[in-house]
Amino acid sequence: MSKIIILMGAPGAGKGTQARLLEERRGLPQISTGDMLRAIAKADTRLAHEVRAVQAAGKLISDDMVIRVVNERTSREDCRHGYVLDGFPRTTAQAAMLERLAVEQGNNIVAVFVDIPFELLEKRAAGRRTCPVCGEIYNIYSKPPKSQGVCDIHPEAELTQRTDDTVEKIKVRLETYKQQTRPLLDYYNGSKHLYTIDGTREPEAIYAEIVGVIDESIKLGSASTV
Ligand code: AMP
Repeated sequence: MSKIIILMGAPGAGKGTQARLLEERRGLPQISTGDMLRAIAKADTRLAHEVRAVQAAGKLISDDMVIRVVNERTSREDCRHGYVLDGFPRTTAQAAMLERLAVEQGNNIVAVFVDIPFELLEKRAAGRRTCPVCGEIYNIYSKPPKSQGVCDIHPEAELTQRTDDTVEKIKVRLETYKQQTRPLLDYYNGSKHLYTIDGTREPEAIYAEIVGVIDESIKLGSASTV
């Protein structure tokens, strides 16, 4: 049975980095609701304007809209053998929708929590830089590019900083996380298949552990839907 891997964790925990590695190395499409919403926000429409405003404020986009985006994206052919969710679900309504979707798609859910102490998160998120061409994620503190300010793979591309990755906005996003998303940990913990991983280590060590969790759950066939 195919797997839906949910990467949970606060902003700056490293979910995006891990989702990209899983996509590159295991062929599991990375479904990042943050990226998809940022793409929608680029248009010159009223909807785009609304999405930009909510993202800039560090608040959550409506469940209805995010659920529609996830439904559409995961129904595509490349998701048939499973996928990685990065940044979804973030509310209990989204988690409930995912349960239904998993049943419909015949997928099992594996929830992985990348755990990082709150005091590290601000610095992590504020140090994040992204390549506008390939989306590679760097961190000026923990994973700097070889040449300052440019992507290793696309040296012509200047790295960009997300507008919501300033210290001030990160504080609001962490508050939103605490109030609306962190309670989901209990939801998944209660159903006995939340795997907690120490997110303070090097990305490769975290990746190895996540892959171990996925392989174990495939072997045991234990990751039944909640
Ligand atoms: P991220 O890239 O995951 O940090 O998401 C950036 C922003 O996109 C968030 O602060 C929210 O405004 C919005 N967003 C991303 N995923 C979701 C979601 N599952 N539900 C609601 N809003 C989301």
